[in-house]
Amino acid sequence: MMRWLHRLLPYGLSLLVMPAHADLVILQYHHIATDTPASTSTTPALFKEQLNLIAKLKIPVVPLEEATRKALKGEDNDKPYVAITFDDAFESIYTTALPLLKQRGYPFTVFVNTDAVDHHHRHYMTWTQLQALDSTQGVTIGGHTSDHAHLVPRPGETAAHWKKRVVRSMDSGMSRLREKLGSTTTLFAYPYGEYDKALEAMIKQRGWLAYGQQSGPVGPGSDPQAIPRFPAANSYGQIGPLRNKLLSLAFPIEASLLPDPVIQRNPPSLQLPLPDHWKADHLHCYGSLRGALPVTFNASTNTVEITPSSAFSGRRFRYNCTYPAGDNRFFWLSQPWINPEEKED
Ligand SMILES: [Zn+2]
Repeated sequence: MMRWLHRLLPYGLSLLVMPAHADLVILQYHHIATDTPASTSTTPALFKEQLNLIAKLKIPVVPLEEATRKALKGEDNDKPYVAITFDDAFESIYTTALPLLKQRGYPFTVFVNTDAVDHHHRHYMTWTQLQALDSTQGVTIGGHTSDHAHLVPRPGETAAHWKKRVVRSMDSGMSRLREKLGSTTTLFAYPYGEYDKALEAMIKQRGWLAYGQQSGPVGPGSDPQAIPRFPAANSYGQIGPLRNKLLSLAFPIEASLLPDPVIQRNPPSLQLPLPDHWKADHLHCYGSLRGALPVTFNASTNTVEITPSSAFSGRRFRYNCTYPAGDNRFFWLSQPWINPEEKED
């Protein structure tokens, strides 16, 4: 009896703190190279280490669209999955990433901004390379606009002008993919990860899934038009922190409750409903280049509020929150913010 209890107890206890499910983690890359801008590059050496870690953790690498749809429905979520994505159709995807991913049989998705390919921009693939990539088993091409524009309204831009501008940018990119690749993709990635609620509504009308650049796994509460991805360039993709990201869990809250990323004041406040049985003092939130942010608990509404003490500089910043899930794993949520008064890059 004692022996039986002894065996049962640690298991029983771990059930209390262990998540009963897991979620889809999407990695986001640009260049796999050493001679391209540091902020958007992953060295081939680090990329190989990352792929080795995924293999070591025995996490299946799955096709993006099917995995996203399953994660949003909460299907097949008894173990973690990872999907690999690249933005911007850079040449090193073809020359360096493709052979490494093919070797391992890992599927991946490339989001293509078509003007840069049409105009033969430096470091970009040609249409011939993209056609070869597109016909490679396991490779999917998605849309990333024609002109890689900032899609949130500009200061002083009329609603009519904004709508015309973003519709042209999004739809002409998709029609160019149709012309050159025969693509009928419904996958879309926001340039710079910038979106707002009005843009999301237009994407939803088109029946597209849309991916951002705010970190966090995809779960049943995620927003199909604001799907999180973990940036995996050199500065974010280091092996130690990557383990926690690969094994992270989506916050059990409805993403539709999250605020519009375009800020109304600086610093913006983030209010979150506290999930059942969660303790506010175990929730930790961090601001971009800022470190820990103050978390205030309101017992009467069972919500937490994150209000930093001073304004953030820069066009884009994030509040990242984590909550321990047991077994050295974390629930992970990132709220992106955009200050459109700051210059576009
Ligand atoms: Zn891009």
